[in-house]
Amino acid sequence: DPGLYIVATPIGNLGDLSPRAASILARADAIAVEDSRVTAKLLNHIGTKRRMIPYHDHSADHVRTDLVARLATESIALVSDAGTPLISDPGYKLVRAARAAGHAIVTIPGPCAAIAALTLAGLPTDRFLFAGFLPVKEKAKADTILELGAVRATLVLYESGPRLHATLTALHTHLGNRDAAVTREISKAYEEAVTGTLSVLIERYAEGGPRGEIVIVVAPPGEAPPPEPDAVDALLRDAVTRLP
Ligand code: SAM
Repeated sequence: DPGLYIVATPIGNLGDLSPRAASILARADAIAVEDSRVTAKLLNHIGTKRRMIPYHDHSADHVRTDLVARLATESIALVSDAGTPLISDPGYKLVRAARAAGHAIVTIPGPCAAIAALTLAGLPTDRFLFAGFLPVKEKAKADTILELGAVRATLVLYESGPRLHATLTALHTHLGNRDAAVTREISKAYEEAVTGTLSVLIERYAEGGPRGEIVIVVAPPGEAPPPEPDAVDALLRDAVTRLP
């Protein structure tokens, strides 16, 4: 059926492409892509060839207008290089424009590095704040960290290897020594999740940084662990001695 299909693709392990995603990609009239070489490999994996249209949110307006016009009669799948489109990836402006034009929009959910990292980190997941990539410049980075750090929620950040050390250091400087996790190469052969306080992680990831793709997860402010049962007993006994 005509419309825009938002298709999540693997973030490392091709086995994570869902059967529904594969069937939508194989049947779409065209696929809007970030990088046609990357998507060509995925299509090759499922044994299909499709017409690909390069798309970025900063593409010229006429590219988006043209895509939206086609949605009346064509099924167009939107993919990014990896993971869920629109999540630190292109697509928001296209979905917005397609919605404004009244076209059908269908999502095919699947891998997303932010959510996968939360499942590995062992930090609270009831409230989290996804903030994508922090600004690179020091002042803007510090301001953003302070703003995010005031929110009572676990923080989820995307980062690259070479910048990891500087970002962990900035988080430590502005938020204190919170618990955190560095997750790397999720769903790939060298998947890794290292947890500890920010100072432990800074030591572990020296300057230069590890290879690969990284998600940093940082505990909410003042998240004290619940007291151990023994400690609760002791607190109660102590309180009793002080009753009038
Ligand atoms: N749309 C993607 C998603 O749904 O996760 C994110 C795209 S964003 C341009 C790329 C960033 O996602 C990387 O720099 C890294 O922070 C994170 N990322 C992507 N794949 C990853 C993986 N396999 N392991 C860890 N982080 C990953």
